[in-house]
Amino acid sequence: MSVEFRVEAQAGAARGGCLLTPHGQIETPVFMPVGTAGTVKAVPQDVLEELGVQILLGNTYHLYLRPGVETVRNFGGLHRFMAWPRAILTDSGGFQVFSLNELRKLTEEGVTFRSHLDGSSHFFSPENSMAVQIGLGADIIMAFDECTEYPADRARTQASMELTLRWAERSKKYFEEHKHEVPWEISGQWPVASDPQTGIPRFALNDRLEEGATQSLFGIIQGGMDLALRKESAERTIEIGFPGYAIGGLSVGEPRERTREVVEATLEHLPKDKPRYLMGVGAPEEIVEYSRLGVDMMDCVLPTRAARHGLLFTSEGKISIKQARYARDAGPLDPNCGCCVCQRYSRAYLRHLYASNEVLAQVLNTLHNLSFYLDTMRRVRHSIRLGEEFRFL
Ligand SMILES: [Zn+2]
Repeated sequence: MSVEFRVEAQAGAARGGCLLTPHGQIETPVFMPVGTAGTVKAVPQDVLEELGVQILLGNTYHLYLRPGVETVRNFGGLHRFMAWPRAILTDSGGFQVFSLNELRKLTEEGVTFRSHLDGSSHFFSPENSMAVQIGLGADIIMAFDECTEYPADRARTQASMELTLRWAERSKKYFEEHKHEVPWEISGQWPVASDPQTGIPRFALNDRLEEGATQSLFGIIQGGMDLALRKESAERTIEIGFPGYAIGGLSVGEPRERTREVVEATLEHLPKDKPRYLMGVGAPEEIVEYSRLGVDMMDCVLPTRAARHGLLFTSEGKISIKQARYARDAGPLDPNCGCCVCQRYSRAYLRHLYASNEVLAQVLNTLHNLSFYLDTMRRVRHSIRLGEEFRFL
């Protein structure tokens, strides 16, 4: 078994579905928190479970550099290494490598780049991105693509799209030949930690990993901001054939209205019976809007990164907790939020923690922002199940 996807409810173009992975079931549309280096910064894994995170994202580039794929492989993959029993998706490393403008060199074969950590030289190609992602052992892995820069003219966008298509074929070929090398131990046991109150194991044992469980490789649609190229990219990527499709190359500096237009146009060309993953968006109102358009999976560093900078998303809009106006505010961060932070602490205390540069500020702010995103998606899924139209808040 790799992944199975079922659409169970629809409201307009929005889909409520269920994505089955070797490490558990995911209700869609889903927001995936980003756990860059094997951690969603500031939040322990048991708390992520309590928050209801069903799948998180790991970054291949960061994990490849540190701790290195061999370390993770020897643990039986990233699930075990980071003690996370639920589903994981890894990106291909391409996006990060292409962000290293000064440090990379691109050829047909792949990309040579320098580590941002120590300047050492490395090479990523479709084949070794697959090898690294197989070693990391996420449930869903991504084809190695070139993220076209913005702005780019049509010739450049087309050439970049063609390269991504050739790399998609190479990614799939290598994956099919090597997917049996995933380091999952099918009959092995998790390091079980029991709940002190109930004695119930907190980790599900990995006996859910059925015989024959495998990773799944998703393809990525590129084509820049050109709608005809997006269509062509979608059609030719579907021809190669993947169990799920991502829309890449957005949130690269284009106006938000343009993002929406490209997403809507690209979705039209994607199969209805396969999961659709929009990479790297967005703000709370965007994840709601893209769910409405028919996106099933999204990820973004925004809730966690913004939290660490004191920027909090609430039902009453964005709050910058560092502001002096909150210094004596005894009210909760968000009166409509049921998260453990809003139930317990005042805005004044959160402001104090942030102003004092306390570690707890990062923990609590991240907890609230993640709760806000996850609750938003729960409401979206509920509306879809009821067949209701929905909008943000
Ligand atoms: Zn809250």
